[in-house]
Amino acid sequence: MSLPKQQDTAGRYFINEALNKPELLKEVPNPYDHLVTSITNILNNCPPKLPWAGSFGGGLYFGLFVGPTSIAFLFLWLSKTHPDLAIEGKFPADYCKEYLSLNQDTYKPEETPRSGCSLNHEYMCYNAVKACLTKDLTYVQNFVQNLDKLTLRPTFIEVLFGRAGLLSLMRTIKYWVPESGEILDPEIDKVIEHCLSYDPWTFGTSPTHQKRFIGAGHGDIAIISNIVMTNPAYAPKVQGRLENILALQTDSGNWLSCEDGGSDLVQWCHGAPGMIWCLIPLRKYYPDLQDKIDAAITKAQRVVWERGLLTKEPCLCHGITGNAFALAEPQRSHFLHYATPSIVRAGLADGILERSSDNCGVWRSEAGRAWGWMMLDYERAGLGDSVVDIGYPGATNP
Ligand SMILES: [Zn+2]
Repeated sequence: MSLPKQQDTAGRYFINEALNKPELLKEVPNPYDHLVTSITNILNNCPPKLPWAGSFGGGLYFGLFVGPTSIAFLFLWLSKTHPDLAIEGKFPADYCKEYLSLNQDTYKPEETPRSGCSLNHEYMCYNAVKACLTKDLTYVQNFVQNLDKLTLRPTFIEVLFGRAGLLSLMRTIKYWVPESGEILDPEIDKVIEHCLSYDPWTFGTSPTHQKRFIGAGHGDIAIISNIVMTNPAYAPKVQGRLENILALQTDSGNWLSCEDGGSDLVQWCHGAPGMIWCLIPLRKYYPDLQDKIDAAITKAQRVVWERGLLTKEPCLCHGITGNAFALAEPQRSHFLHYATPSIVRAGLADGILERSSDNCGVWRSEAGRAWGWMMLDYERAGLGDSVVDIGYPGATNP
């Protein structure tokens, strides 16, 4: 078992040996074993202990993006999909609680220049995940009472730093704690109205360097999906923006990172994979657009299949794991074969894979690989479509 031998000339992706040779398709017979190995790696490399062993940003916490709350979110979902998976006598709900008990309360409710207001904001994410785990409405109140104070960057609308991420967090809280709807619904509509008051949506940390991103990481598609998935009544209000995105698909099947051009990347944050992740749960809200959406997905899957075996460390945001779930079986398992723990370990050791700046979180590292194994094992058990039923952490969860 090893990575493919050849790469493209830029060293961005491995040449897919099964591209036109179905007889070379790899299989993943035992996703559950990889899930257990991946979780064990997390517990060994970044245990629920202080000092925190996370490598990103000097060990600072950044909500669902990076840090212990990010890992807690994985364990929250595992407490639903694999409640009896015990490691060292402890269950996912136990680990979720432990990863939420690492001095997160030292992170203040204020928005900082680096925090944004949502998925990267420790206080907001901590209270959201804690609410989901404990069902205690106190945490929902903490979350809601802070919304009006997140005023530093009103133009942040995208999902990682902006208001689309707030919608995702509120939808998640409602999913886990249905009785929170009474508190959250009016706030959801306020946030959506705020999002809709900007057209076009732009993103950039400097006010003078704003870009028209369209991909899932910082752009329109994840804003649209979060508005519609959180309150479907708004679907007609963003239909024009969605049709605009569909029209921007290139002949190759990809989307460039920005409306007016930009990078030709094939990953979740920029390019076809993230578009597919967002379009799949969106399609049911647009019966008139379903043929167009399905055609766009099929065309996009071709580019993922051809250029999606990335040489970056496998992860959800820009790596093989995230790209795999943009494909259908058996192509999905072929991709995931190359993200199995032993291949990743060997690929990082010999430098063929480019190591991530994070060593544990759910977007860019091991917890994201574990998230992928959770999704694959859920599907193998015949429980449903994991892209719809589980989704991308913090962006397309139901
Ligand atoms: Zn990324």
